[in-house]
Amino acid sequence: MITIKSRREFDRMQVAGACVAEIHRTVRDAAVPGATLLELDALARKVLENRNCTPSFLGYHGFPAVLCLSVNDVVVHGIPDDYRLRSGDILAVDAGAIYEGFHGDAAFTMGIGEITPEARNLIDVTKRAMWAGIRLTQPGVRLGDIGATIEGIGLEAGYGVVRDYVGHGIGRQMHEEPQVPNYGTFGKGMKLRKGMAICIEPQFTAGGEETSVDADGWTVRTADGSLAAHWEHTLALTSDGTMVFTEGEEPLAVDLVDWSTIE
Ligand code: MG
Repeated sequence: MITIKSRREFDRMQVAGACVAEIHRTVRDAAVPGATLLELDALARKVLENRNCTPSFLGYHGFPAVLCLSVNDVVVHGIPDDYRLRSGDILAVDAGAIYEGFHGDAAFTMGIGEITPEARNLIDVTKRAMWAGIRLTQPGVRLGDIGATIEGIGLEAGYGVVRDYVGHGIGRQMHEEPQVPNYGTFGKGMKLRKGMAICIEPQFTAGGEETSVDADGWTVRTADGSLAAHWEHTLALTSDGTMVFTEGEEPLAVDLVDWSTIE
């Protein structure tokens, strides 16, 4: 079911989104060579507590942590453990928060210490693809337009565009209708409308698009062992225009984005 959110509901999602943004800033600063994934998870937990939010992921179908931390060939859903980050790693940080029953959900990928130019490019292109999808998001646009745009950027760069995991609607549930694929056909798919909120979350790999899941039932890896990057934001189609809820302390109006800093 697609839910149409009221202004009051969007206000709650914005508080959850600002919490996610603070988690991102906190983890970005702390993710240095030698830090463990469990330490990062504990920092996220503190931010949630300070902001009277609860974690979206902890306990979700039994997920055991606050963050999904996905290192190198892990695409998504990595479980924080005592792994110590090393210079040259790439780390995807996915965080979700609930405020008064409403979710925010966002991810970024960063390099730890010195990373290769190839890894840097994978991270940057995946981020650019997310923002290209965000730029299109407004009432009347079709999901196929967003998916095809994201897919085109990945394929043009020679990357695998993961199809096994997709973006989603968000609100009272972390995962609502519609699915928001990172692939598609221009002019096809559902039209977005005012009151919807979606997460756009491309996952690109330096190799093929195929993935496999570890025996823990969560950790999703590239089937060929290549590096993967993941970026995600929560977006709301409000009566004041499209807003990114998970970028900072305040909603970011997509109309006001300086695209020269992103593309
Ligand atoms: Mg998501």
